[in-house]
Amino acid sequence: MMSHRKKLSEFALIDALAKIVPSSKKVIKGIGDDTAVLPLKGNRYQLLTTDMLAQGVHFKKGTDPQLIGRKALACNISDIVAMGGVPTHAVISIAVPESFSTDFIQNVYHGIARLAREFDVSIVGGDTIAARDFMINISLMGEVDKKHLILRSGAKSQDWIWVTGALGRAWKTDHHLTFAPRVRQSQFLVRNFKPSAMMDISDGLAGDLGHILKQSHVGARLAADQIPMNKGALLHEALYDGEDFELLFTLSPAKSQALVQWQQHKRRWFFYPIGQITPERGLKLADSHGKSTDLIVKGYTHF
Ligand code: ADP
Ligand code: MG
Repeated sequence: MMSHRKKLSEFALIDALAKIVPSSKKVIKGIGDDTAVLPLKGNRYQLLTTDMLAQGVHFKKGTDPQLIGRKALACNISDIVAMGGVPTHAVISIAVPESFSTDFIQNVYHGIARLAREFDVSIVGGDTIAARDFMINISLMGEVDKKHLILRSGAKSQDWIWVTGALGRAWKTDHHLTFAPRVRQSQFLVRNFKPSAMMDISDGLAGDLGHILKQSHVGARLAADQIPMNKGALLHEALYDGEDFELLFTLSPAKSQALVQWQQHKRRWFFYPIGQITPERGLKLADSHGKSTDLIVKGYTHF
């Protein structure tokens, strides 16, 4: 008889793994948010995150190596800024097949270096091994003022739900390789409006909003016609495609009104309101006539 392995979703697998490992009292926030949050001297917390990219899963064969390197760092920076923090130091591990040229790897590093310079990240180490498939893993540290820390668990009923940019089709358009991590937007928000919850959208709006709803014990209603979409993207792609790397955040009604006014004054929209947090659990989508349908809270999973 063939052995039968129970297939776990990525999130169920992480939940199962989280039960195995120890976590000491010194942890402010462990598994379950965009980064770990650890104690640091003074009025700051240390942030720590890691992301791994594999050929065929996170980038296609033939992708410009500079863009591979860029993405490997950018998605880590995105997680740090999703906590309200700024990135500081990184280590890089690479698995390199024998057939790969030094040129290729150097170009991966040029891609990393360029973005690292832009956001003042120091590369301070790593590991190099030979392997059958090319893979790259970056671990990134960051810091956040205690008063600027934003978790996924703080959304309150009536809060407005916001995103920092257009969603959908990131994979088909290569936007997942070239996106700008929302460092400035995050810093602006934590200093001026302090969202109640925040995360970055890596697994699709519906699934990632699901994490905020679950951890905040609330539900949400999205307005279909307010969701900003990339050119040519369909609604289901804006809801369920992954790798947008926009910030998703919630803000009290009063602060939301103030943010709308600030943007009207600037005559520029950097942030888009897309719905509201509800006391009833579950995720609903309202069309332009106000008709509501239930949405499945599932994200894009690479599994
Ligand atoms: P993100 O998309 O923000 O990078 P993930 O969905 O990858 O977050 O991970 C969700 C949470 O689970 C994070 O807190 C992450 O650190 C944790 N996590 C993911 N994979 C593992 C693993 N293999 N072991 C322990 N924790 C993990
Ligand atoms: Mg994230």
